[in-house]
Amino acid sequence: MRRRDILIKLPLVVIAPLSAERVSAQSVELKETDPEALAVSYHANAKKVDPAKNPKFRPGQNCQSCGLFVPQPDSPLGGCQLFYGKDVAAAGWCNVWEAIQNK
Ligand code: SF4
Repeated sequence: MRRRDILIKLPLVVIAPLSAERVSAQSVELKETDPEALAVSYHANAKKVDPAKNPKFRPGQNCQSCGLFVPQPDSPLGGCQLFYGKDVAAAGWCNVWEAIQNK
């Protein structure tokens, strides 16, 4: 590998651990009534999402199956790359849900 190739890839190596640490450091649970939650129709339980009011919702979608979710071992909560400093319910959902990308 040439030095130039290493320098190009280095920022990705440095950023990835910082992102994971940032998300896992979250400890406050996002509430449905928080302004940032209201902005994206966050529901702590995807089974309670009204599809008529949330046309982006599809059955089976929840935070656990979202590409922005960061699971935490032995916890019903996890990090979300959308909400810095707050955890979301694995069973939750919001209208920013996106499919997990295979890499
Ligand atoms: Fe849940 Fe994904 Fe919305 Fe975050 S972006 S709250 S993980 S559905």
